[in-house]
Parts: sequence; structure tokens; C-alpha cells
Amino acid sequence: MATIGFIGLGNMGGPMAANLVKAQHSVTGFDVAAAPVAALDAAGGKTAASAAEAVGAGDIVVTMLPAGPQVRAVYLGPDGIIAKAKKGALLIDCSTIDVETARIVAAEAAKAGLEMLDAPVSGGTIGAAGGTLTFMVGGSDAAFARARPILENMGRTIIHAGPSGHGQTAKICNNMILACSMIAVCEGFSLAEKLGLPAQTLWDICSTSTSQCWAMTNYCPMPGPVPAAPSNRGYAAGFTAANMLKDLRLSQQAAGTAAAATPLGAAAANLYQIFIDGGKGGLDFSAIMQMIRQNGTDR
Ligand code: NAD
Repeated sequence: MATIGFIGLGNMGGPMAANLVKAQHSVTGFDVAAAPVAALDAAGGKTAASAAEAVGAGDIVVTMLPAGPQVRAVYLGPDGIIAKAKKGALLIDCSTIDVETARIVAAEAAKAGLEMLDAPVSGGTIGAAGGTLTFMVGGSDAAFARARPILENMGRTIIHAGPSGHGQTAKICNNMILACSMIAVCEGFSLAEKLGLPAQTLWDICSTSTSQCWAMTNYCPMPGPVPAAPSNRGYAAGFTAANMLKDLRLSQQAAGTAAAATPLGAAAANLYQIFIDGGKGGLDFSAIMQMIRQNGTDR
């Protein structure tokens, strides 16, 4: 059993912390919002009145925050995690953030004698609740070996991607590929519809042909062929279009820094921006089907 401080108990962090409680760890959680703290209490965890209190309770500190600015705010500064952590504590940030912030914060932790991992996840809220997340982890071999048994209580696939920042790099590349493949699937099903080919027929053919991909077989954006997909429940998220745009922006920021050409990633970011400007950011990211189906990039 480990003592764990957990900061950021939202849609993902809440169920992840609850799984650590289920695995018999002593988990002390903090969130700036009251409701998620109450939910951890109900799940059998302990609650803290501040981030510093949660950090002080843990040999391991896990964070699951919205984006880079929150990670910098929570980790750095005189009241931050790095200043308040117990000697020898292992810090694990599971948020999806920019590569630069991940590296800067890990370097600050190292200056204070603390090991830190970037360990973003794939698998969404269903994976968080079911303990089936995929973790992609950046940091030292020793820190990874120490974190692995804890991460196994929250996920099924745990991959050491390399040094600090490589977890975030894997995550933003994965999501850029996913956004591009989702839009491609939308365009294929929209074209077929306009040519009179039923969606189910196209799916039966393509799901076993060369265009097969996760966006089609597990998450088909056209209502019908995949009953469990968000397209069959009014595109309720799932993974929101706003979060997908956030990750696409991170990919474009990283592409700029690395002088990497990502023209399809740039086009995907542009299309999601137009979709979200139309007020649809809270829908699942597969809902971009609605915009493609309506023939447009202008609504
Ligand atoms: P969320 O908004 O539901 O949760 C974030 C939590 O952090 C909130 O409860 C918020 O109150 C809390 N918070 C913000 N600032 C804080 C601070 N200074 N101190 C303490 N708590 C603070 O978001 P989420 O869906 O849980 O996502 C978290 C991260 O996981 C994001 O980086 C997201 O991109 C990533 N992610 C989300 C999904 C998904 O399907 N939702 C999937 C994979 C990765």
C-alpha cells in the first residue's frame, strides 16, 4: 500500500483516484471544486483542504489537471508541489499538456532532488472508470519502475516512451492522428451518403478494407453502424471537440518548435476551430460529422 496525494479530481482524475482507493492505497485528494472532493470522500478516499496538504500526505503525488498553465501553477512557486513534496516523493503528472511545460517542470523537480514523470493517458472517461487506460510515460527508468505498479491500478497498458516530455509527445501525436482519421472517416461517409450508398454497407466494406481505423470501427461518426458510438446518443461526449482542439493546438505548437510539416494536422485544427466557433465544443469530437455532412467548413 502506498500513500498518494492526488490533485485534480475531475472527469478523469476522480475515477482514477477512486481506482487507487479500490487498490487499497491511502489516497488524499484535492480539487479547487467542491463536488469532486466530495465524490472522492464518498469513494473512501481522504480529502485535503489545500494542494499542499494533499502533497504532504503522499510518497507519490499524482496530478490530473486541465492544461499546461494549471500544471505550472500547481507545481511551481513557494506553495507548489515541488516545494511542499515529501523528501524522495515521486511526482506523476497525467494531464495532457505541452511538451515544453512537461520538461520545465520535471527539470525544476530534479533541481529539488525529486523524480517526475509525464504520464498522459488515452482511453477517456470509460477507461478511467474501468481502470483500462493506456499510459505513455516520459522520465527516468528508475522513476518508471517505481510508478508502474501504481499506474497498473489505473490502466492496462503502461509504456515507457523515453525521457521527460516523451509521454506528452506520444500523446499529442496520437491525438493529431486520431483527429485527422476522424475527419477522413466523416468525409468518406458523407460522400457515400450523397452518392446514395447506405452507411451500413460502406462500414461493412471499409471496416475490413484498407481504410479501416479506430475512428471507423470503434467510434463511427455516422449514426448506425457502431451502436455504442457517441453518434448514436446525440454525440454526447466522450472526448469533447474542445479537448480535441486543445490537443491539436499542442501538436501545432510542437510542430512549429520542431520545424515539422503537419499540413493535415493544421487543417484538422482549423476545422475543429470552425466547428467549435459554431458553439459545438461540448459535443463529442466525432460530432464534426454534422459539419462535414452539412457540406461545410463554414458552419
Ligand atoms: P476536468 O476539467 O474534468 O478535470 C480537471 C480538474 O482539475 C477539475 O476538477 C478542476 O477543478 C481541477 N483543477 C483545475 N485547476 C486546479 C488547481 N489549481 N488545483 C486543483 N485542482 C484544479 O478535465 P478532465 O476531463 O479530467 O481532463 C484532465 C486532463 O486529462 C486534461 O489534460 C485532458 O486533456 C486529459 N484527458 C482527458 C480525457 C477525457 O476523455 N476527458 C482523455 C484523455 C486525457
